[in-house]
Amino acid sequence: METQDGYIVGVFNYCDRWCERCPLTARCRVFAAIARFDFEQDHGAMPAPEPEHRSLGAMALGQCGGDDDEHATAPPALLQVPHWDPPKLAPDAQALEDRVKALGFRLATWQPPEGTTVHEGISEALEVLGHYGIFIGAKVHRALFGLSLSDEGDGALSDASGSAKASLLAFDRLGDAWLKLVEHGAVSVAAAEPTLTELAWMTGEVERRFPQARAFVRPGLDEPVAVAMLEWQERG
Ligand code: SF4
Repeated sequence: METQDGYIVGVFNYCDRWCERCPLTARCRVFAAIARFDFEQDHGAMPAPEPEHRSLGAMALGQCGGDDDEHATAPPALLQVPHWDPPKLAPDAQALEDRVKALGFRLATWQPPEGTTVHEGISEALEVLGHYGIFIGAKVHRALFGLSLSDEGDGALSDASGSAKASLLAFDRLGDAWLKLVEHGAVSVAAAEPTLTELAWMTGEVERRFPQARAFVRPGLDEPVAVAMLEWQERG
């Protein structure tokens, strides 16, 4: 694990982008940059960007291989994203991405049947579906795109494996949340089956294309001992 100024280098590349629940916000340059940006906006130090510009900047950090922490210090809204036509994925890879996006959209927008009492267990599962349903399409795209560049060196392949791992973990979380909805009676066993089958197929497909993905060590996130050592050293 490499650190710079107390931040873990590249921690934001393979996380799940759920900053509100992240244990490493204090070690993440992206989080720090966004927090500083929000603060400056709230205090009138810079004009508010259009929402779409802001999320484009976040995408640039998250999806374009931005693992250098210098980029992460720039507020996302200020990053210049030049017009760029990305190379196309192979048809089978594109078909996988499309399928992932379609399922993700369905899960992110899924609502319990009318009359369901939405208690805490169900609303937690809905939050998980909402977050990871949106997340998986972009992450699988980054993995497949990186794999298509693997001839260019180990860096592209490693980044693709890290993105594939983030995708697989997100599939796991989606499956767990869907099963929670079954447990709470919001989804019947019969109705749950096609989604679980689709998730299992996608998991197998990503694991087949990225056999090293599960073993990929995500900076900080998969290194609890190194993070604990860092905390301990900083406490003196
Ligand atoms: S690593 Fe950074 S960008 Fe990722 S969830 Fe944590 S705080 Fe957010």
